[in-house]
Amino acid sequence: MTLEGTKCKILPQIHTTCCICESNLSEFQQRVYHTIAKIEKGQVTTYGELAKALDSAPRAVGQALKRNPFNSDEYIPRVPCHRVISKNCTLGGFSGKTDVNSAEIKKKLELLESEGLKFQNFKLKESMHDRILNWQQLSNIKKY
Ligand SMILES: [Zn+2]
Repeated sequence: MTLEGTKCKILPQIHTTCCICESNLSEFQQRVYHTIAKIEKGQVTTYGELAKALDSAPRAVGQALKRNPFNSDEYIPRVPCHRVISKNCTLGGFSGKTDVNSAEIKKKLELLESEGLKFQNFKLKESMHDRILNWQQLSNIKKY
């Protein structure tokens, strides 16, 4: 790593350093993480929409999410994989766990609630459904 860091290959005008581009991860994982990095606080998307935006399969995306090393504010950009939920608006997985009684899923719920989202019985409330980005929105976000 140089003193200037590694400029992002995809969004050099935004990220003068990019933890994703600096990594030795596969091209597919890098694409997944760059897309997730676009999801802002208070927004979520689903595995299915993410897969569509990446022209991939939900299962492949889920595998990449499980191995995400960048879900913390110390990374630039942060890859907030907790903002990816299931199609039926339940929480889905986190850190490889899917059991709603697990500490991992409780942590995911806590993170999303702290970002302003509301859940009932581990399911995103109906009134919050406009916070779910679809694949076109994920593809079109130009912020990154
Ligand atoms: Zn990058």
